[in-house]
Amino acid sequence: MTESETSPLAYATARLEIDLGAIVANWRDLARRHDGEVAAVVKANAYGLGAERVAPALLEGGCRHFFTAHLSEALALRPLLPGVMLAALNGAPAGSEEICLENDLWPVLVSLDDIARWQATARRVGRKLPVILHVDTGMNRLGLDLPELSVLAAEPARLAGLDLRYVMTHLVAAEVADSPSNGAQQARFAEACAALPDAPRCLANSSGIFLGPDFASDLARPGAALFGINPTPGRTSPMRLPMRLLAQILQVRTIGIGEGVGYNSVWRAGRASRIATLGIGYADGWRRRFAGQKVMAWAGPGRGFDERPIPLVGRVSMDLTTCDVTDHPELRPGHWLELMGPRQTPDALGAMAGTIGYEILTGLGPRIQRVYAP
Ligand SMILES: *Cc1c(COP(=O)(O)O)cnc(C)c1O
Repeated sequence: MTESETSPLAYATARLEIDLGAIVANWRDLARRHDGEVAAVVKANAYGLGAERVAPALLEGGCRHFFTAHLSEALALRPLLPGVMLAALNGAPAGSEEICLENDLWPVLVSLDDIARWQATARRVGRKLPVILHVDTGMNRLGLDLPELSVLAAEPARLAGLDLRYVMTHLVAAEVADSPSNGAQQARFAEACAALPDAPRCLANSSGIFLGPDFASDLARPGAALFGINPTPGRTSPMRLPMRLLAQILQVRTIGIGEGVGYNSVWRAGRASRIATLGIGYADGWRRRFAGQKVMAWAGPGRGFDERPIPLVGRVSMDLTTCDVTDHPELRPGHWLELMGPRQTPDALGAMAGTIGYEILTGLGPRIQRVYAP
């Protein structure tokens, strides 16, 4: 038996097919566009696609800098990412110094307190320690604020013992190309860096890479674009979409005119209808908000099935979703329908659920089997 046959997920009724080669191709594409090195942000399980497979594929593809959000994520990935930069953007909480050092995780310092704590650690272990300094230039979320920066500029000895590998900041609205905040943050960042000891800079996220040469730095930090989220909203996506989401038909039934489907019968048949029930629901991240939107499914592409879209009908429930397959008499239980892919992207689904593609991808749950193509 293969490993997949012994896993309970071999019986999953929802499947995410992930093309690792397309993710690596996206990374290479960003690396070509950016004048400086390019990291990979693999936080939140690589935006739902599975960090344990995605991160090693990117390593193999040439990526040498990785970021997670939580320290727990970085710790879990370290054995899979030997010998390359790995840092947790949310920072290294007090008490984590030892485990960070053991795992060669560079702490992202966000305050004078953080700096003092790591300086003390450097003194204790008797060597210079690599750190990343996060300065806040407008997000007002994480990082040293302006008063803290002036203290640091006036008292550079606070950084003694620390090896400043990068100074970083994060853009508030990089995906809005003409937002005045982009230029304002870029200028504030340049000012902050000028006041600090000379160190490499780390600026752009996915969309930032597309803002032009002023936003290039020694290291960019894209996440979303690697996974097919459009970094240039309003324009055609320059990225490949590296995944497809499929769900399996559990049952097909015929109902009469006027009969309701699902909770509260919010949809009623206007004709005699065939209803297919799929094994995916909002507990899998397939949003309840999709009900009543123009969300579609498609019969298994390339299998000679009718390629016309199949409308979702009725409420999305926790574990099940229903759709109207009246015009698809070939469909039977056991067949798979495509729910997300090039014809209905994470961005498009996000818009229909009143959110963004990021939340759609990172919300995909553990009952969905991830299947990888190399
Ligand atoms: C999530 C995150 C990124 C990556 O952003 P994308 O828009 O997904 O490219 C970069 N930097 C920080 C600080 C982040 O939190």
